[in-house]
Amino acid sequence: MAFEQLHIGARPSSAAAQLGTAVHLAVEKLLSGADSAEAWNAACDELASRGPDPRRLPGGVRTELRFQKRSPQLQELVAGLSPVAWLVEEELLSGDGSIGGTADLIVLRDRDLVVIDHKTGFASDAGVPKPAYERQVRIYAALASERFDLPAARGVLMSMAEGVVDVDVTPALVAAEMAAARSARQEFNERAPGSQPAAATPQNCQWCDHKARCDAFWDALSETWRDEVGECVVVELAAEPQVSANGLAAMRVEIRAGTTVADGEVVVAEVPEALVVGLGAGATMNVTGLRRTKSDRTLRWAPGAMLDTH
Ligand code: SF4
Repeated sequence: MAFEQLHIGARPSSAAAQLGTAVHLAVEKLLSGADSAEAWNAACDELASRGPDPRRLPGGVRTELRFQKRSPQLQELVAGLSPVAWLVEEELLSGDGSIGGTADLIVLRDRDLVVIDHKTGFASDAGVPKPAYERQVRIYAALASERFDLPAARGVLMSMAEGVVDVDVTPALVAAEMAAARSARQEFNERAPGSQPAAATPQNCQWCDHKARCDAFWDALSETWRDEVGECVVVELAAEPQVSANGLAAMRVEIRAGTTVADGEVVVAEVPEALVVGLGAGATMNVTGLRRTKSDRTLRWAPGAMLDTH
């Protein structure tokens, strides 16, 4: 099926995505005047009334702490921009209807506008914005400029982990990004309904259910992907998994490749029993989306984790 529209920044449902939704909602409440604790709790209460409570999700406490830490910086940033108005979660669509997206925050000013995108994790590598995030902000800048007939003066990634990361939104770069997006959409449509080439990047793969068995993912994976995809490892079982009375298994493994390396055995804990039935010493497998623990000898199964035996 061909793309009618390329939508930038869509978020599927997963623990990480739900925490992202909680942050976005909390930011909205923060900018409406709530203090950071009120904003976080109100956002979580609202989401808990129709789904899982973000405070109880893996990473929930860390996300809350990051949000509390960054809230004053975000308030200061927005106030310092002298806004005429601001818009949250604003749906944007190009005039030709081909490119769309939802901008987290658009600050409208007298003569220009500023696009701000919130990220729960890190938004840069070595001080340089992550390319996919940079692309996203530039496309929002183009779409917002078109919608409000104002030039984009600034693009910002507001990372809950590292604070403000600026994105260069000079017109030539924004125009080039839009041209590339249109070209990608056209190439996709020309290949459809045939298969599409794999484009393994942390941002593409983090939501993908095929990670554990995708060669392109494992070929491209590096430890710098950890923020987006969790701990992903190729392991060899050192012994038959031990299943406890609660139906969860502990696997003693040796790590062969992935986002983390360790000499000697590591335990992968709390794996659903059904996934390890029949496995014995020497079995090899790919496991994605694990969580680190305080011990560097233990990785823990997490919601969204996947296991694929070789
Ligand atoms: S895991 Fe593989 S199939 Fe999924 S997005 Fe990444 S490259 Fe594409």
